[in-house]
Amino acid sequence: MTVIDPDAPVLVTGGSGYVASWIVRQLLGDGYTVRATVRDPHKARGLEHLQALSEQFPEKLSLHQADLLDEGSFDAAVQGCELVIHTASPFLLGKISDAEEQLVRPALEGTRNVLSSVNAAESVKRVVLTSSVAAIYGDNADMVGRGSFTDTDWNSTSTVDHQPYSYSKTVAEKEAWAIQRTQQRWDLVTIHPSLVLGPSLTTASASGSMTTMQHFTDNSLALGAPALQMGVVDVRDVARAHIAAAFTPAASGRYIANSETTSLLGIGAVLRRQFGNRISFPRHELPKFVVELAAPAAGMTRKNVRLNVGLPVRFDNSRTDAELGVSFRPAEQSITEHFQQMIDDGLARR
Ligand code: NAP
Repeated sequence: MTVIDPDAPVLVTGGSGYVASWIVRQLLGDGYTVRATVRDPHKARGLEHLQALSEQFPEKLSLHQADLLDEGSFDAAVQGCELVIHTASPFLLGKISDAEEQLVRPALEGTRNVLSSVNAAESVKRVVLTSSVAAIYGDNADMVGRGSFTDTDWNSTSTVDHQPYSYSKTVAEKEAWAIQRTQQRWDLVTIHPSLVLGPSLTTASASGSMTTMQHFTDNSLALGAPALQMGVVDVRDVARAHIAAAFTPAASGRYIANSETTSLLGIGAVLRRQFGNRISFPRHELPKFVVELAAPAAGMTRKNVRLNVGLPVRFDNSRTDAELGVSFRPAEQSITEHFQQMIDDGLARR
């Protein structure tokens, strides 16, 4: 049982990111004091929403410079915090030129650096780590022989060459558990979102959530979409799951955050229902052999297509509902409100 002092500051790493921004906003709304780390607190774009929150909640939000790759750079920000929510980690989809440098090193070394700052600060009692369903499974094909993925499953199929983002999340989470087991002062709870959608507080994020939704504006799916299934969850519910995991004394282990399984065509169907017919909203399923042939040009490997397209995926998050009391809004709402935010931000036409 871990009880966090509600008056102690809460550290959120990567505070300007898509998911973290909602965690910061909800923490402030709940009355907590928040320290958010960012790589560059002086950058001209991408911090406007945090600056607005800081004005809305005077004296409650501070920004701290920290880089995942700089040893010790989280030391000062962690001092005095009982709770650390470690969210910073790159989520890049599509063509990656150097997966080791762009994904694996920041995820793994970053986790080591943040947790070594946690070890150095006497105050920390709990770390909530943003992991992913990507640390639970690698490809939809991994589900063969199971009814659904659960929080006891581990991704054993991804490598730096195949599904490198999933690999980065898996090795980072394993490292976090290994470091946690070397001491007894702080416990670790991990949150495992599926594809996060829903309105973004920032237009500066390069998250795979953003690149996925851009496909519904750039006509790349105009001829049709691969039959690719994925879990989807709302960003506001993911933030709520982190906060519930942080302040539920008995919370422990790994919690899947997922609303429902959908597909690229399913997202297209929602968008057509809500925003009318547009050429960028896919209507047809592309045959798998066509997708496999075209994969490299679209930044996907053929192996990826073989092991994912046309195959089902399901998640069991009953433990999250039961122990954290978080319910997940329907995917239709997240997709609609995400796209509406893109329209409001000028990223999609009205
Ligand atoms: P995001 O908007 O791109 O946020 C990623 C954050 O990581 C940014 O705040 C970025 O900080 C930070 N970061 C990256 N490299 C860094 C470095 N070297 N040093 C310090 N900070 C660094 O992506 P997101 O979707 O919110 O992802 C946040 C977390 O959720 C990640 O751990 C991701 O794996 C996880 N997750 C996301 C999804 C999803 O569908 N979006 C699903 C499951 C799990 P700066 O802004 O300062 O550059």
